[in-house]
Amino acid sequence: MKRNWLKGIRIAVSLLFFLLTILIFLNIKGIVTPGFISGVVFLQFAPSLIKFFTLLSFAAFGFLIVLILTVLFGRIYCSTICPLGTLQDMIIYFRRRFFRRKKFRFLKAQQVVRICILLLTIIFILAGSTFLLNLLDPWSIFGKMMTNLFKPALIGLNNLMVYLLGDQTISFLTPVELKKVSIFSLSFALLFLCIVVIFSVVRGRQYCNLICPVGTLLGYLSKISLFRITLDQALCNSCGACQVKCKGGCIDSRNRTMDITRCIDCFDCLKTCPSDGVNYKFSFFKGSQIKIRRKEDFIDPSDTGEFTMARHRFFLTSGALIMGIFGYLYGRHPQPESDSDSTLANEGVNLSDPQGVNPHVQPVTPPGSVSQAHFVQVCTACHLCIATCPAQVIQPAIKDYGLTGIMQPKMDYHVSFCTYDCVLCTLICPTGAILPLTIDEKKTIQIGKSRFIKKECIVDTKNTACGACSEHCPTKAVAMVPYQYGLTIPEVNNEICVGCGACEYACPTDPKAIVVDANPVHLIAKLPVNIKIEKKVDFKEDFPF
Ligand code: SF4
Ligand code: SF4
Ligand code: SF4
Repeated sequence: MKRNWLKGIRIAVSLLFFLLTILIFLNIKGIVTPGFISGVVFLQFAPSLIKFFTLLSFAAFGFLIVLILTVLFGRIYCSTICPLGTLQDMIIYFRRRFFRRKKFRFLKAQQVVRICILLLTIIFILAGSTFLLNLLDPWSIFGKMMTNLFKPALIGLNNLMVYLLGDQTISFLTPVELKKVSIFSLSFALLFLCIVVIFSVVRGRQYCNLICPVGTLLGYLSKISLFRITLDQALCNSCGACQVKCKGGCIDSRNRTMDITRCIDCFDCLKTCPSDGVNYKFSFFKGSQIKIRRKEDFIDPSDTGEFTMARHRFFLTSGALIMGIFGYLYGRHPQPESDSDSTLANEGVNLSDPQGVNPHVQPVTPPGSVSQAHFVQVCTACHLCIATCPAQVIQPAIKDYGLTGIMQPKMDYHVSFCTYDCVLCTLICPTGAILPLTIDEKKTIQIGKSRFIKKECIVDTKNTACGACSEHCPTKAVAMVPYQYGLTIPEVNNEICVGCGACEYACPTDPKAIVVDANPVHLIAKLPVNIKIEKKVDFKEDFPF
């Protein structure tokens, strides 16, 4: 029986997930709630898996649902839930519609490459680095593209519309400030987009079937799926109708076989077979209906049929080389102070200075990230926190965390500062790199300490009154104390400083006269006392005459 409706359902579900994902990344007006964001991200495989093992909590069980779905129905994660998969499907759709090149062909399986990439990704994670997930995980790639490429474009478009419409602006269209566009991040995202477009146009879903570690893992699991696409050997006459439709490149109609590990369950092939030879049905332990390719089928026919010593040596050398590069990169990775003993910042108050010789070179990590060690080991650089932070203080790092931490976020106090009573990034991080905080908890988490540099301060260099840092400090950790010529000069109390960066951001000098040095392990600050919450006075109302 042909189940054409399956493809309709697949497209509807994938569009739903895709639109919801776009909504949370392109949330330029800040209307999407953290609960909604967490709900949308819940089923994303790699972030959920990382969060599960980071928190050791069954609350992050989205990946288990994906595994169960795969065992039941095959790789439907790849064809419905994964936003990068849907993006590729869209590119393929337009390729079919607008270009002459409409046919796919069977692609030789590259099982060794796939397995090597999967194993290396696992080894990197076990070694405490999400470097390969940062580069290869579909969720993180999609997030980087949305945040660094499409969101600035959308804000630009919004502001252009506001400008063009002028007085006729409808109320929803208001200007949106974009504090920074990093050419590096933009180029990085553009590079990912180009790779995805080229793969999709030339080879269909080959990215998912060759490079994506999630696709490989789910592909091998789908070998035991209960329901799957099958080629009926008796009905198939090798016409190739299904093969040219298969964007996974997994149907070999000439030999009447298909590689189930590369079938992404897009259901494009179902209605194509003129003799009803392609079906999606219960196939557990019915391997004869689908001739799963044998190991020797995956070997290049030009070979002798053996896994030759030359090839063996090639893979061993490549493996050693990759591991060597990894060791080098990881060795270069700035190893922050371990958080293994004092661990979570909220476990104890320790205001002794744990910092290195020049702490300002260390990037400040967002509140809730516990320590730099925790952060770099768990963050996959999906940039959801960057997209969500209303202050735009979270920015992608380039080399602050070393090469393996490229594009992981950091606090950039030249762009903005962390709002005192905001906890948004702590509530939405899908991997647990930033752990949830309440507003009260956040107000005492010290992510860094401020340092006053008198020789840069204009009170000293220009004998001018200033105090911008003190004015902007939410805890009044910077106080203005008497100085020469009747002036006052900043003095820092790091017991109550939370490292929010408001002082650094507000300081008018270049270089800054007050900077925030990172706490490699986040600490607990004392609560400030006697802070007067300044109330804004509406003079128009207060003075009625
Ligand atoms: S810290 Fe930010 S970039 Fe890293 S995983 Fe969490 S949300 Fe994504
Ligand atoms: S807590 Fe600070 S860094 Fe996090 S979203 Fe809010 S303002 Fe941004
Ligand atoms: S001293 Fe600076 S970093 Fe510390 S709380 Fe005040 S404004 Fe924030």
